[in-house]
Amino acid sequence: MQSEKILVINCGSSSIKYKVFRMPEENILASGLMEKIGEENSHIKHQVPGKIFEVNIIIKNHIEGLEIISKYLRDKNLGVVENVKEITGVGHRVVHGGEGFNRSVIITEEVLKKIEEYKNLAPLHNPHNLAGIMASRKLFSGSTQVAAFDTAFHTTIPPVAYLYGLPYCLYKDSSIRRYGFHGTSHRYVSRRSAELMGKDKYRVNVITCHLGNGCSITAVKDGHSIDTSMGFTPLEGLIMGTRSGDIDPGIMFYLAEKMNLDFKQLNNLLNKESGLLGLSGISNDFRDISREIKKGNERAMLSLEVFCYRMKKYIGAYLAVLGKTDAVIFTAGIGENVPLVRKKSLENMENFGIILDEEKNNATIPKEREISRNNSPVKVFVIPTDEELRIAYDTYQFVLKREH
Ligand code: ADP
Repeated sequence: MQSEKILVINCGSSSIKYKVFRMPEENILASGLMEKIGEENSHIKHQVPGKIFEVNIIIKNHIEGLEIISKYLRDKNLGVVENVKEITGVGHRVVHGGEGFNRSVIITEEVLKKIEEYKNLAPLHNPHNLAGIMASRKLFSGSTQVAAFDTAFHTTIPPVAYLYGLPYCLYKDSSIRRYGFHGTSHRYVSRRSAELMGKDKYRVNVITCHLGNGCSITAVKDGHSIDTSMGFTPLEGLIMGTRSGDIDPGIMFYLAEKMNLDFKQLNNLLNKESGLLGLSGISNDFRDISREIKKGNERAMLSLEVFCYRMKKYIGAYLAVLGKTDAVIFTAGIGENVPLVRKKSLENMENFGIILDEEKNNATIPKEREISRNNSPVKVFVIPTDEELRIAYDTYQFVLKREH
C-alpha cells in the first residue's frame, strides 16, 4: 500500500490540536497543541519524535494558528516535510453534521455550505471547525480535504430515540432533536470489539462508554448506533468533567427566577462549573479525584459514586433497549485508566450477564483487553480510542481513491 502523509486538525473554540500521520503505517510524524488562541498568552507545544518545542506567543485567530503550524511542519529542525505538497490529505474533525452527513466526506463547496448551515446547531464548535477548513484549503491547497463528523455515526438513531417530548414543530421547523457526539470513537471501539469477538461488525450488539473530558454512552445494534446519551448538544447524559449531564430542566427556571441567573451564567454553570468539578470541589480531572479518594476525601468519593451511578443507569437502560448485548466497552481517558469506575458502574449486574474479572480489570497491560470473566455471557472490554487516527484513516482512503 502506498504511504501518504496525512494531517489531522481539530479546531476547538480557543485551541487547535493537530497530528501528522504516515498512513497506513500509523506512524505519528508530528503532533501539537495550540491553546488560548485569541488571548494574550497563547501557547504552542509542537512535538516530533525525540523533540518537544514549546513557546508562548500571541496567536490572534485560527487562521494565524494554522499558518504557524504549516510553518513548523516545514521547519528544518521541527518539520516533517520540505514542501506542504507532501501532505496529501487533511482530515478535519467537524462537530456537527446535522442530519445530512452519515459518513466522512471530501469537502466540496456544497459540504462547506452545509457545515455553515449547521453553525447555529453548534455555535461553540462549527464556526471554529469551519475557520480551520478555510485556512487549511489555502495553506494545503493541493491536498484532499476531508470532514469527519462527530454526529455521523449516530444518524441511524430512530425517531423514538431522537425525538424529545417537546412540540413536534420544534423538531420539524427548528431541528431540535438528539444528534449525539463522539461518533468517531463509538464507531471505532464497536467495530474493534466485533473483531476481538471474531464476529461480523454488523452482527454485534454492544454498549460503548466513551469517558473522557466529555462522556457519552451509545447503544449499538447490529453495528448501528440506535441511541446515545448526548443529545441536541453535548451537555446531556452522563456526568462529565465540568458538564452536568442530565438534570431536571425545572432547575434552570428556578435558578433564573429565584437566583436571578441570566442565560450566560446558566450556560457557564452547567457547562463549566458542574460535573466532577462541581460535585467534588476539587477538579474535573479523575487523576486529582483518585488521589483525593486515596487520602480519604469524602466529597471526592461521593463524586465518583454519583458519576458511576449515572453510568449504571444508562447501561441498564441500553441493556433493555438492545435486548441481547454481546459486550460493554470502556474507552477514553477515564474509561481506559480508572478500574474503580468500571467496577462500580458494572457492580451487581451478574443477573444481566455481566461478570467483571477483578484481576483483569485492575491490570494495566495490555491496554486493549477483555476484563470480564471467561464465563461472563456479556463480554467487557477496554479498547483505547484514537479519534485522530480514525480521521486519518478516513482521509487516507479518500486520498487513495483520488490518486487512482
Ligand atoms: P478528551 O475527552 O478531551 O479527548 P481524554 O479522553 O484524554 O480527553 O480524557 C481526559 C480525562 O481522562 C482527564 O480529564 C481525566 O479525568 C481522565 N484521565 C486521563 N488519564 C487518566 C489517568 N491516567 N488516570 C485517571 N484519569 C485519567
